[in-house]
Amino acid sequence: MEKRDYYEVLGIAKTADASEIKKAYRKLAMKYHPDKNPDDKEAERMFKEASEAYEVLSDADKRSKYDRYGHAGLEGAFGGSGFDWGNFSHFSDIEDIFGGEGLGGIFEHLFGGGMNRSRGGSRRNKGEDLQLSLSLTLEEIAKGVTKKLKVNIKDTCETCQGSGSADGKSSQCPQCRGTGQVMQTTRSLFGQMQTVVRCPTCNGEGKLIEKKCKVCHGEGRTNKMTPIEVEIPAGVAEGQYIRLRGKGNKSKNMGENGDILVHIKEKEHPVFEREESNLRINFPISISQAVLGADIKVPTLSGKVKMKVPPGTQSGKIFRVRGQGLPYLNSGYNGDLYVQIIVMIPAKVIGREKELYEELAEIDKEKNYEPKKSFFNKFKHLFNMI
Ligand SMILES: [Zn+2]
Ligand SMILES: [Zn+2]
Repeated sequence: MEKRDYYEVLGIAKTADASEIKKAYRKLAMKYHPDKNPDDKEAERMFKEASEAYEVLSDADKRSKYDRYGHAGLEGAFGGSGFDWGNFSHFSDIEDIFGGEGLGGIFEHLFGGGMNRSRGGSRRNKGEDLQLSLSLTLEEIAKGVTKKLKVNIKDTCETCQGSGSADGKSSQCPQCRGTGQVMQTTRSLFGQMQTVVRCPTCNGEGKLIEKKCKVCHGEGRTNKMTPIEVEIPAGVAEGQYIRLRGKGNKSKNMGENGDILVHIKEKEHPVFEREESNLRINFPISISQAVLGADIKVPTLSGKVKMKVPPGTQSGKIFRVRGQGLPYLNSGYNGDLYVQIIVMIPAKVIGREKELYEELAEIDKEKNYEPKKSFFNKFKHLFNMI
């Protein structure tokens, strides 16, 4: 079937603004909502079509692509197979029409999986995700590193093989007949609504155990310190995380395992300061090095590099050493190292050194080395401000 124009689907003009788009969608959503059209495949299709149109036209970026290139402009926007309920991000816009809370449940019930929503009570199969954080040094971040950790994971109880029962016996939950879910009927403005919720009798397990396993107390899982390996790519930054799929808690009932989310933290470095992929360092040199110029060796995260300080370098001057920063994540390129020169003034001089400074002072006197009037004029505005 030919894909219909989104504006036509919602029955609005191409110039419609956000509130007109929303109003049109709400009207259609109310008309075609499956709850008001039970077992009506055509209404379900219309509802989905309107939701897709709304998803696109309510998003400025997607809308401008669509306006310019039509449906072709959005190829790939919803993954390979086109728009699905998992792509719909505006449930909250219609929640108030349908009475809120149970909506996630309705959608899951009607359209099956593909829902990116954790609301509703029927996601009983997946094990829980675990969160942990990992502190890394800049040296580790520069090269990438493999970390070995031990994580406390809920694993299948060996004593009862996960059944949770001491004698291996369990009976089907009479309330939900083993499904772990029950339908709940609520009244709303538009009549009765049915939502799916977790069965309260068996807490979503679908079965009842009389003699609970003594080791796991009927849960079917026990805590186990489990070694894991985390590969950290070079260039990561604080605030990013790595997902280890399926390494989290085991599912209670043969479902998918949870994940482990490893959150990256960055340890403060004694020498370098990080600014995204660039590094910054303060480097002290002597007065004579600043005046006469010098070859210095600047530390980097992987050894030292030679750098030329030209004669007459002022304190505070910043030099850039290309490619000696941190790698950009997954790119093969590196940031730069910024070296700020700090000219060290000796706190105390004695002997020959003192004599030389005194000689220098004589020369300065001869040069009549005093700031000119224009020098002070430059700073006048600063004093006026205060
Ligand atoms: Zn057990
Ligand atoms: Zn039950």
